[in-house]
Amino acid sequence: MSYIYEKKNDRVFKFKRVLIKLSGESLQGNNQFGIDVNELNRIIKEIKNIVNLGIQVGIVIGGGNIFRGDKLVQFGINRVVSDHVGMLSTIINGLILHDAMNKKNIKTHLMSTVPIKSVCAMYHFKKAISWLNNQHVVIFSGGLGNPCFTTDSAACLRAIEIQADIILKGTRVNGVYSSDPKKNLNSKLYKKITHNEVLNKELKVMDLSAFILARDYKLPICIFNICNPGILYRIVIGNQEGTLIQSSF
Ligand code: UDP
Repeated sequence: MSYIYEKKNDRVFKFKRVLIKLSGESLQGNNQFGIDVNELNRIIKEIKNIVNLGIQVGIVIGGGNIFRGDKLVQFGINRVVSDHVGMLSTIINGLILHDAMNKKNIKTHLMSTVPIKSVCAMYHFKKAISWLNNQHVVIFSGGLGNPCFTTDSAACLRAIEIQADIILKGTRVNGVYSSDPKKNLNSKLYKKITHNEVLNKELKVMDLSAFILARDYKLPICIFNICNPGILYRIVIGNQEGTLIQSSF
């Protein structure tokens, strides 16, 4: 993988265009459900720091802080309908994120794969790229628009379509571990690992179909802890943070 190095105002950054995957949970802070406005604004500040550097930013937003398909199924709701509700949850998050980002003077657009004409733009990769080229942030909601997938798959597909240099997946752990660090004190945090090593060791990074897509398209992924202040900035200026997954090193 050869990164595109972009020179802006005499500074060199590691990436020109990034795709941030924000789970719904990352917006809920310590709440059990919904959105914590302080956490939302903190994450937006993090994003603004890298937008101000001239990095082009796409965001795939999840919906797990509202409804997840697999949870609704447990209440007897049809699987496909449950996933529709999950996808609509990502649009709800997208609307809130979009509004909050525009209020912070970040030019942002909301797109959805599920058409809701009066609410947000229909997803089209060329339109998204043209906004990104104009240094506008684009939020991708609605996942893939199909049931039985997750927004991890949407993140990988959107990253490929918009030709992002990397997926930055914000989580609440520091990266990819050899085993669950909550259960095993000797568990090791990987700083660098290949896609195939992740698959061979059966490490949990994202859902398998999404990860295989990333592997096949040699898409680098950085798994990092979104709760660490300043982390997005440090990643894009080239610091080693979290776990970097690539096809080779
Ligand atoms: N979903 C779906 N198809 C997609 C993306 C999402 O059906 O392409 C549904 C699925 O039910 C999922 C929910 O939307 O549980 C919320 O997405 P996800 O779980 O990925 O959100 P996150 O965990 O990132 O907050």
